[in-house]
Amino acid sequence: MQELHRQSASVPETLHEAHYDEDADRQLITQSYRNLLHSFKTPLEEKDLRLLRAAYEMAVEAHKEQRRKTGEPYITHPIEVARICVEEIGLGPTAAVCALLHDVVEDTNVTLKEIHNQFGDRVALIVDGLTKLDGLHNSESPQAENLSKVLRTMLIDVRVVLIKLADRLHNMRTIRSMSDKSQKKIAAETTYIYAPVAHRLGLQKIKTELEDICFKIQHPDEYKDIARKLEEKLKSRSEYIDKFIKKLQDIFKDLGYKHRVIGRPKSIFAIWRKIHTKHVPFEDIYDLFAVRVIFEAPREWEKRRAWELYSHVTDHFQPVPERLRDWITTPKSNGYESLQTTVLGIDNKFVEVQIRSERMNDIAERGVAAHWKYKSGGKKGDADVYEIWLQRIRETIENSSGNAIELLADIRSELFTEEIHVFTPKGEMKTLPEGATALDFAFSIHSDLGCTCRSVKINNRLVPIFHKLSEGDQLEILTDKNQKPTEDWLQNVVTSKAKNRIRAALKEEKKVQADFGKEILERKLNNLKVSFEENCDTLVKWYGFLNRTEFLSAIYLSQVDLRKVNRKFRADGNMLVEIEQPKPRTQEAPVFRKNKPEIKPEIIINNEPGSYYQHSFATCCNPVQGDEIFAFVLTTGGARIHRTSCPNASNLYAHYGHRILSATWGNISRSDFLAHVVVTGIDTGPGVIQQLTNRIYDLGINIRSFEIRGEGGYFEGHLGLIVVNTDQLQRAILELRKFEWVSNVTRSDN
Ligand code: MN
Repeated sequence: MQELHRQSASVPETLHEAHYDEDADRQLITQSYRNLLHSFKTPLEEKDLRLLRAAYEMAVEAHKEQRRKTGEPYITHPIEVARICVEEIGLGPTAAVCALLHDVVEDTNVTLKEIHNQFGDRVALIVDGLTKLDGLHNSESPQAENLSKVLRTMLIDVRVVLIKLADRLHNMRTIRSMSDKSQKKIAAETTYIYAPVAHRLGLQKIKTELEDICFKIQHPDEYKDIARKLEEKLKSRSEYIDKFIKKLQDIFKDLGYKHRVIGRPKSIFAIWRKIHTKHVPFEDIYDLFAVRVIFEAPREWEKRRAWELYSHVTDHFQPVPERLRDWITTPKSNGYESLQTTVLGIDNKFVEVQIRSERMNDIAERGVAAHWKYKSGGKKGDADVYEIWLQRIRETIENSSGNAIELLADIRSELFTEEIHVFTPKGEMKTLPEGATALDFAFSIHSDLGCTCRSVKINNRLVPIFHKLSEGDQLEILTDKNQKPTEDWLQNVVTSKAKNRIRAALKEEKKVQADFGKEILERKLNNLKVSFEENCDTLVKWYGFLNRTEFLSAIYLSQVDLRKVNRKFRADGNMLVEIEQPKPRTQEAPVFRKNKPEIKPEIIINNEPGSYYQHSFATCCNPVQGDEIFAFVLTTGGARIHRTSCPNASNLYAHYGHRILSATWGNISRSDFLAHVVVTGIDTGPGVIQQLTNRIYDLGINIRSFEIRGEGGYFEGHLGLIVVNTDQLQRAILELRKFEWVSNVTRSDN
């Protein structure tokens, strides 16, 4: 064999150190390989063993000079990814071979051709799918391009995405050795796409673990807070669950078939999501207790056994009727099957009870990876949920405009949606994702119908084109040939087909505008006696636009101040040359600072005390002095300051990681930060508003806005407060919580 190994200088996850204990390394490597072999449940055939061994040896040799950030030899990573594939996802030897080789082409001298020669078509295809694209330096978002490549290859072999998930899981489990910024970036990417993919493919366990690790990185304080509260009650909680399980086992003792009852801990992230979306305090989350009843049954008896167990449970414990879910008769669109309810358990505490067969449990935990195992046993004509979903992804990719960020966003929205069914006037059924509007329906029939759609009749009633559809709606489209798609249509459709057609129409429109804009600019440059062709790009860059079309159409729409060309440039022959600005006194002087001495809080960006970026505060999360923040570099050269907990942070990190810089608070010279607070409680009458506002004024805080809504004896108030820093804000929140009729006070983003 040729010399395959070399020092790889550009691999970010590796580290080179001279003094490592080679014996200890070798021991560690053989031990993890042995663990991998032991993880197969059935004995391996001779030829599979040989292939595994060959892949192992190739990977050991190829990665031998590399180390992980944790200090371990790099090869432990691919071996561990292979073990996760086998043991935790249930994949076979081929996947393990691919997992062992998954970083070889990307990070070492081994070529895809060599892998192809030694391991054949299938392994080469999968490894190729797992290898990052080369030469994306000029791309707007290399991260998005690489992710869409993985998803594209998934259509050919679903194992690509399963191995990618195992890879991500192992990297997340060992993420503590990365820098803060890398952790945030990786966590954002994981929240944005990997956890939803895991959910959609039914890999519940992996999804939950990914979400919990991400949550810990993205919201460390809240994570600690919930973990501590769970810890405090751990003893009493587990005693309670044990008691409840014992009682159920007692009830089930004469069943005559195999079953087991297990307690199920709720994930920290799931608890937080509930606190956050429902604005309830930790103490009020009533299904902190959950148990699972898993039984054995032949396929055709599963449903009746589940209902039999349900009736046993509800004979002894009062069920909460609105919490009954029958996902056996109609499984969830990610394949999940279970019968589930909440009952009033011992001591009148609420307990969630899930009832399912061993097969259903396997599918609930491993999804698509377990699905193939049971495929043959299903009813005839059973639609394969994963096939349907993969088909939708295929269509999304085929309809895509080629922009990786848009494609990824489209795929992501496909990951989350459930389906509804609506009808044409002739009674033909159309399946659309939940949340689809009348406009989506029009585009689903024909793109011309979509582009000219003026209004819609639903069940014979006239509604606007952005009307959200409900299950069973019957629709008739009314068109107008003068109608034209506008920017806001994009925000009011959910299907990728509609989005792509609208984008195409808008692009067409923009081209026309750019033609007009070009005429305007040409006139201008003629006056300066320089040519358009040679100087246009200079101006595109100077004004901070992405490309000519954007720039020229903005000129047509009068969004560009062209007078600046005369002030900032002079003609030198045929070329525009920027007039030199008076040189700053010292080299450290800010480049982008405004001329007038405006009082602005100092933000230290990228640890450089003389802030080179003119900054502004994001209104999506309204940072207050003291919040953890980061800076997002704008194409115009400035920087926008966001809170690290900003709802948009994931999106920014996942797509534009390269434009994110660290930021900390410096010398603050302002004291008027806007913060939003939500107060909920019992409506005790007209005095509520006054008592709340008085308490706030007592703290010396001004109120910018106050909206209050009441319903059924409860109120929800939204306050905009002007505060100096997070300490003052925190004090206000604690003060408001002191009213006994206030049930909760939380900060919101905007
Ligand atoms: Mn990897």
